[in-house]
Amino acid sequence: MKELFKINQFNLMASDMIALNRSLPDVRLDGCKAKVYPDDLPNTSIVIVFHNEAWSTLLRTIHSAINRSPRHLLLEILLVDDASDRDFLKDKLEHSVRTLEVPVRILRMEKRSGLIRARLRGAAATRGQVITFLDAHCECTMGWLEPLLARVKEDRRAVVCPIIDVVSDDTFEYMAGSDMTYGGFNWKLNFRWYPVPQREMDRRKGDRTLPVRTPTMAGGLFSIDRSYFEEIGTYDPGMDIWGGENLEMSFRVWQCGGSLEIITCSHVGHVFRKATPYSFPGGTGQVINKNNRRLAEVWMDDFKDFFYIISPGVARVNYGDVSSRKALREALQCRPFSWYLENIYPDSQIPRRYFSLGEIRNVETNQCLDNMGRKENEKVGFFNCHGMGGNQVFSYTADKEIRTDDLCLDVSRLNGPVVMLKCHLMKGNQAFEYDAEKGTFLHIITQSCLTISRLEGGTYGPTVEYCDGSPLQSWVLHNYTRLEVFKKLYYSSTDYFL
Ligand code: UDP
Ligand code: MN
Repeated sequence: MKELFKINQFNLMASDMIALNRSLPDVRLDGCKAKVYPDDLPNTSIVIVFHNEAWSTLLRTIHSAINRSPRHLLLEILLVDDASDRDFLKDKLEHSVRTLEVPVRILRMEKRSGLIRARLRGAAATRGQVITFLDAHCECTMGWLEPLLARVKEDRRAVVCPIIDVVSDDTFEYMAGSDMTYGGFNWKLNFRWYPVPQREMDRRKGDRTLPVRTPTMAGGLFSIDRSYFEEIGTYDPGMDIWGGENLEMSFRVWQCGGSLEIITCSHVGHVFRKATPYSFPGGTGQVINKNNRRLAEVWMDDFKDFFYIISPGVARVNYGDVSSRKALREALQCRPFSWYLENIYPDSQIPRRYFSLGEIRNVETNQCLDNMGRKENEKVGFFNCHGMGGNQVFSYTADKEIRTDDLCLDVSRLNGPVVMLKCHLMKGNQAFEYDAEKGTFLHIITQSCLTISRLEGGTYGPTVEYCDGSPLQSWVLHNYTRLEVFKKLYYSSTDYFL
């Protein structure tokens, strides 16, 4: 079992022992089971790209899609082999899909291209009204397809994802995903799941069977109207192997007039892996940085600074030519990233209004605040300033928080430790008022100043003490925007409170 695990980074022995048409629990909300969909839904082509996928997971994806889709809604399945070198994915695969009741076509990339260009190839060959993308290790559950197609029929600019259930990489047990999480991202441009915020629950008036408007998607599983896929600019063909394409499409869809939604009545399982089984020609970091840089350059305007400053390697990567993607943004008259942050992702880790971004340096010790690897609920540290971004990047925001990604400096009492807690935007222990002349951070609730000093318990570190004008209480913010400039830049919004 352990040997086989290494091949695909999941329990291949377990997968091989499980039927290709195994039964799955019906994990839908009761309100979903009762829904009735129109008879005249658009049909779909399914596109599955793979590089060296295991036999049983690939075939189970195909069988579950065929067995659990109304025959008239599933026009065809396109498999795109991204230059796999396993023998069973050649003739044997061709032979075993020939007799299925849905036409399955296999396209082969001449050389390893990555999932983005492989999907582009598959999509270009589709004939369905809707394109549905799936990873090669998925399982479709009862009723998965109708709600996706119904939403696309209702609004052709809705790009829709199922709830992605978890197929355990260890046991292949099927576990329901949550309808209470949606997609976001952090300063490193990693896709992350976050709780669906209250404002979105309110918008749906508490009806959990209605679509969740999600800022980003995981990327592997979604349906899109075929003509809209073309219109909105398909994918960025300059992206390699894996990564970034999901955020690129998420930003593009929202900024250019579409919507991205999780259809909570549709459930599809996916084997989530902890490691990647395949190689990244060119190096994993390089490839992902390149893809992310392309999307940041095209879609994020000045907010790309958050990504660049925290990941110094990104600035050195050769990201090729993005002029055609910028021309696309122009042609579609897409909105700025600030609009996306304000309207689609107000709970983003990237503050829409901020005074500074970069290191925070103590005047007396000449050392910098350091988040010590972003561990929640741990003390913020200080170290010699290294100017390499990473753990020494903080943003002082218009909400008066000192923030690093999703964590904020938080202190509850005089001489207490300054810890990193999830930003809550409720002021309280997380609100600091910066005085640019004195360089002080007044901790508003305790009316004391951020300093480096002996903490209760005897250790030495950042804390708050009575303000005494000492240089230990003075801090220099990198690229601090003076208040007046800031006001000119941002004083347009009514929720601005300074
Ligand atoms: N894939 C591909 N070529 C690549 C990398 C990935 O065709 O160079 C396929 C892979 O086989 C899978 C899909 O793209 O079907 C998504 O990749 P993966 O499952 O590794 O991504 P994850 O789900 O871990 O994000
Ligand atoms: Mn996958």
